[in-house]
Amino acid sequence: MENPLKVIGTSSTTCGGCHSAGCGTCGPSPHTSKAPVAFNRREFGYTVLAASATALLTGCSQQKSAEQAAQPAPAAPALSPELAVVQTSKGPIMTTLEEFYKMGPGPSSSHTMGPMRITYDFFQRVSKLPEDQLQQATSLKVHLFGSLSATGKGHGTDRASLAGLLGKAPATCPPQFLDELAANPDQAYKVTLGPKTLDLTLKDIIFDATKGEFPHPNTMTAKLLAGDQTIYELEYYSVGGGFIEWKGYKPPDKGQPKYPFDHARDLKKFLIDDKIPLPQLLLQNEMAISGRSEKEIWEFLDQVAEVMVRGVDTGLTVESVLPGPIKLHSKAAALQHNLKTSAKGEAGRAVTRVASYGFAMGEENARGHIIVTAPTAGSAGIIPAVVKSLRDLNTPTQKIRDGFLAAAAIGYLCKHNATLSGAEGGCQAEVGVGSSMGAAMIAQALSANPKVVSNAAESALESHLGMTCDPVAGYVQVPCIERCAYGAVKAWTAYSIASEEIPEQRRVDLDTTIDAMALTAKEMNSKYKETSEGGLAVSVVLC
Ligand code: SF4
Repeated sequence: MENPLKVIGTSSTTCGGCHSAGCGTCGPSPHTSKAPVAFNRREFGYTVLAASATALLTGCSQQKSAEQAAQPAPAAPALSPELAVVQTSKGPIMTTLEEFYKMGPGPSSSHTMGPMRITYDFFQRVSKLPEDQLQQATSLKVHLFGSLSATGKGHGTDRASLAGLLGKAPATCPPQFLDELAANPDQAYKVTLGPKTLDLTLKDIIFDATKGEFPHPNTMTAKLLAGDQTIYELEYYSVGGGFIEWKGYKPPDKGQPKYPFDHARDLKKFLIDDKIPLPQLLLQNEMAISGRSEKEIWEFLDQVAEVMVRGVDTGLTVESVLPGPIKLHSKAAALQHNLKTSAKGEAGRAVTRVASYGFAMGEENARGHIIVTAPTAGSAGIIPAVVKSLRDLNTPTQKIRDGFLAAAAIGYLCKHNATLSGAEGGCQAEVGVGSSMGAAMIAQALSANPKVVSNAAESALESHLGMTCDPVAGYVQVPCIERCAYGAVKAWTAYSIASEEIPEQRRVDLDTTIDAMALTAKEMNSKYKETSEGGLAVSVVLC
């Protein structure tokens, strides 16, 4: 299948949302020009996952896993051209902060975050139905199709869907509630819709047909029923990156950016010609594109920061074996605890502290708790680690908001000119971009000039070029969690280098490195693009 990545010297642009069951969570871009290619690869990964589970029961066989991994991947279903995610659009970057920093349960933006956003949307819709209709209601049902049905059990699609149906907002749902749903599969929970209160259980989330003519590989329907009669029904699609669409979906109208850019060099020109600070430029664009007020934008970013820091704080206190066949023990709490007692010296303590923050949020993602895509679920530990460490320095709130804007700008550039999807570009596109965003965030929050911000981002990205995506058993745990820790530490390293060197002497600029990432992504062997066919995924035997 043709690769939609832009590479040097070509005119096609941007990544698409991968339809991943793991973390490959680039969001669909309004500029996406081709259907994403990840679905069949990821499905292939689950063949290996199944092999791993079998090995656990029957004794391990690396050869057997390899043989199973050599099975041909199922063909990818064609996507409906009606979906916004496959519609063609070109022009300047139009991504908004709310599209980019998405909050919801991990570990998969398409299989947990998207479904919860869908059922929460359905809950809100049916809550507004006329009272006489609600009075007749007897049940709510959700049917999962395609990949959501085939691989949803392992990713907690059912509990995420039930939580949304119960009216829990993805951004604020307590992690304990999600854990309770998983631990008590037969328990009935009450949901109130106007005058009616209904009982719901996990059995109301139905794993339906895995094969068929679906408009999208991740299709689901939600229904409000009166006995056998349907009162209200809607077909939804979890189109990747936590984005959702539904039958008849129309993309929201957007305004034109005040400072249109699609490369870092365009930003540089505006900064010089208009003598406008980078955060102001990005704020003006966000207001123009999204139609949000400055106050609304700051409130949103403050909420993002709170969700991130809350996740890190939770992750630092919990010690557990993470869900799934790897039986991976969490490390964040131990790292944090040992900080107080071990003799690591100043450098060791600083690195350990930042790493523990990255571990904490990466482990929270693996537990299926609430995370923020930054840029993806698999790399969701990096920016929270940066925010937490900036708060340790008593960085003012406004500076952290400015940092979020700068980080988003780096993510937008990578999304627009390369990819944010491990399934398209390997881990350089997820952890690499996350680290690059983190470096820009630190530099901006600590009031560095725009050249240093850009150089810091370039340095971090350059240091991740070529990193492959090879999650063991298809779970977003090994190597993903430790890579979040390294990504955060490298963000600080990149900032340290960029803030000490003479900015004009840096020989590589950010646009060049993003182009290099796109080229590397295009030429990377597909085994290393989230297929679980290569690297650690086949080297590690689970037994
Ligand atoms: S290896 Fe990297 S890109 Fe692949 S699933 Fe893990 S975090 Fe995502």
